[in-house]
Amino acid sequence: MICIPITARSTEEVLLEMETAQKYADIIELRLDFFSDKRDAEICLEKVSKKRPKPIIITNRPKREGGRYTDSEEERIRLLQRAIDLRFEYVDVEHDSMMHIIRRDYSKIIASYHNFQETPHGINQVYDKICQCKPDIVKIVTYAHDITDNIRIFELLKSAHLPIISFCMGENGHISRILTRKFGGFLTFASLSKGKESAPGQLTFQELTDTYHFKKSNKETKVYGIVGNPVSHSMSPAIHNSSFIEKGLNSIYVPLKVVDIGSFVREFRKINIEGFSITIPHKESIVPFLDDIDCTAEKIGAINTVVNSSGRFKGYNTDSLAALQGLENGMNHNEKALNTVAIIGAGGAARAIAYGLKDAGYHITIYNRTKERGIKLSHDIGCTYKGFEEISQVEANILINCTSIGMFPHIENSPVPKDKLKPGMVVFDAVYNPIKTRLLLDAEERGCCVVNGLTMFINQAAEQFRLWTGIEPPIELMRNVVLGKLSAQ
Ligand code: NAP
Repeated sequence: MICIPITARSTEEVLLEMETAQKYADIIELRLDFFSDKRDAEICLEKVSKKRPKPIIITNRPKREGGRYTDSEEERIRLLQRAIDLRFEYVDVEHDSMMHIIRRDYSKIIASYHNFQETPHGINQVYDKICQCKPDIVKIVTYAHDITDNIRIFELLKSAHLPIISFCMGENGHISRILTRKFGGFLTFASLSKGKESAPGQLTFQELTDTYHFKKSNKETKVYGIVGNPVSHSMSPAIHNSSFIEKGLNSIYVPLKVVDIGSFVREFRKINIEGFSITIPHKESIVPFLDDIDCTAEKIGAINTVVNSSGRFKGYNTDSLAALQGLENGMNHNEKALNTVAIIGAGGAARAIAYGLKDAGYHITIYNRTKERGIKLSHDIGCTYKGFEEISQVEANILINCTSIGMFPHIENSPVPKDKLKPGMVVFDAVYNPIKTRLLLDAEERGCCVVNGLTMFINQAAEQFRLWTGIEPPIELMRNVVLGKLSAQ
């Protein structure tokens, strides 16, 4: 179920917001502590009790539990008791206030615990303690500092014997809100719109339903994701979730902001994650934590895809073939005869592209800012290295940007001065956001053949989809999702 909290500050605004919320929510939460005038809060309570289109949770959160209520504790409890007497479906009572409440059969009591500092390791003890006051529903909300904190919440949800609402707050806790149905959570909270959140890290109901298809998830849902840092900008959740729906698969793909790749791999084995994409900065650092590596990925030395087969994590690289396809699709017959390549950058993308091109017989020079990294890649591939600044004397007839220079929002930047681009040159930019980067715009003006990074991006995602599902990916849909996201930006 999705619960939309109403965070308005007056009866008038509450009634307006409820009008919209009731169209999308299964349950609505009325936050009395958000009211600026406490007398108005009571008037609102009485009014809403008479006309409520959806089941309602009444909450009057004190400051000590992260709420806004600052008046006397007696008055706060009196309002909660009034909500029970008005027969509201659910009343949220802080676990340490339960003894002050007179319970009635017609209102379900949610005993809540909030921890804005952390997700304690002994979270099951908190649960056991709350259960002692025999609530109808337990609510445990903590703060995630790291993506692995969510695993403790998932394990709690799985082991709970009472109905339970539990998730982590903060950006690192997003997945606990998205995946709660899979692990048995009673409901998730989602805001009516951006800026209307009642707690940090709350997603909008639109994000939950449109991107993550929340209501379609259940205990059998397979979990995939994108591992990187940062990942909040990634288009991969939109692409893969739309593709799962299109192909009728009960799977979900989530952003996974990971700092320590080793502890991520160790902890996410516990929830049997089915597979994941890997982006900056973990494409190379994940290698020692995998059980198996595909031979192409091993030669490249960078992984962008992991498949979990029967508990063994195997790494693949789908960037290399995708880049080669992208480049060769974008060139005409004559251009395919060109064979000297300048690659700018020496990170994961450069590594994958250089490997694929070398294998296909191209002569490559790597231009990189950090000398050691550039020399290492050129040594591994068997090609020439030059400093980043030497790109202004580029001689190659194919030029490929594998740095993030020119990527949104820094769209005015280009790694190569315009006058150094020669007519007839093929210029390929791995950056796909924007599709026409400054480098490509300059190259077009100089009479070059330009190839954008979109085909490579779609192809690498399509191959990931094949590896995870064994099903042919909906490539046109993938392309349309990316184009839609780029134009909405
Ligand atoms: P990465 O591993 O972090 O490598 C980044 C590279 O860019 C490094 O060589 C770095 O040089 C260089 N660089 C970054 N900022 C620079 C600057 N201001 N001046 C000079 N060099 C700079 O990243 P990656 O995974 O290779 O990705 C690189 C780009 O390719 C990103 O924009 C990414 O979106 C794009 N990409 C596209 C696709 C696709 O499918 N189209 C797939 C993968 C990646 P140092 O070594 O000196 O730090």
